[in-house]
Amino acid sequence: MLDFGAFVRSIPRAAALIMAGLAAAAPGAHADDGEVNIYSYREPGLIDPLLEAFSKETGIKTNVIFAKNGLIERMSAEGKNSPADLLLTNESGLLLQAEAAGVTQPLKSEVLEKAIPAQLRDPQGNWFGLTRRARVVYASKDRVKQETITYEDLADPKWRNRICIRSGQHTYNVALIASMIAHHGEAETETWLKGLRDNLARRPAGGDREGVRDVKAGLCDLAIGNTYYMAAMLKNPEQKEWADAVRMIFPNKDGRGTHVNISGMSLAANAPNKGNALRLMEYLVSPEAQRIYAEANGEYPVVDGVAASPLVASWGELKADDLPLTTIAEFRKKASELVDRVQFDQGPNF
Ligand code: FE
Repeated sequence: MLDFGAFVRSIPRAAALIMAGLAAAAPGAHADDGEVNIYSYREPGLIDPLLEAFSKETGIKTNVIFAKNGLIERMSAEGKNSPADLLLTNESGLLLQAEAAGVTQPLKSEVLEKAIPAQLRDPQGNWFGLTRRARVVYASKDRVKQETITYEDLADPKWRNRICIRSGQHTYNVALIASMIAHHGEAETETWLKGLRDNLARRPAGGDREGVRDVKAGLCDLAIGNTYYMAAMLKNPEQKEWADAVRMIFPNKDGRGTHVNISGMSLAANAPNKGNALRLMEYLVSPEAQRIYAEANGEYPVVDGVAASPLVASWGELKADDLPLTTIAEFRKKASELVDRVQFDQGPNF
């Protein structure tokens, strides 16, 4: 991966401004300088096809800095000199963190507002969902016969010693628990969370895939995980047999719908190529981009009418809980406190 950041930072600010000024003076030229800088928490392999298609269509060059951690902190540290135009994240907690850190800017775009359902974007325009994933139950094909389940059912003593899950403090679980608080209130959610804790087969640990691995190994019968991990496991020779041992059940599909979360994007607070960033953001909600992006990640498009890939569609129809992500965000702190209060990560306590 090219470290374009170091390069961009090496161009004196004044020179960059002069270049922009020259471009603006030329007839028909865009004020921006023909590129867009992306800080991405998403792996290059997952976004490259998309960016190539964008560059081909627009002539705008894309520069990507990828990191699994620390991009928001980097934007904060770079401050007004940050070369970042667009932040791409693999989940919504990071978008909230970016907004809180002041490294995003609100954006009004009719194209984005029309394409992305209101519950999947910030009303102020600080962040926008690009793909959806559902938090589902991976059930043992051999040992679980039922076809439906609810999140509420997971606290039923019939599942005692049968459920595997990652840390309750992981952002995916915090968001799920926050959605439970939004639907049931804090007291009821606490009771539920204790019930779930007491049904765990082991202390919360690992990632979502390790839960499925442990179902395969017979340690648990249900694992809680995001949908796209099925696609990821199927592609991985070692993990394919884990995936083959389970089937996905979409909780609450006959009721309010399954809890969903997003990957997404934010316009950087000091985007030097704002116009190009906006073009890219709007491109990313085009039907073509939605199809490519969702398929590459094993996720669901956010735009209505864009079909999921054949693999994703084969998991069954997603009926999504339409609770706004901003509501979930409001309850995240309470959810995290509940996880601590019931000592969720200590495992069963009865
Ligand atoms: Fe993930």
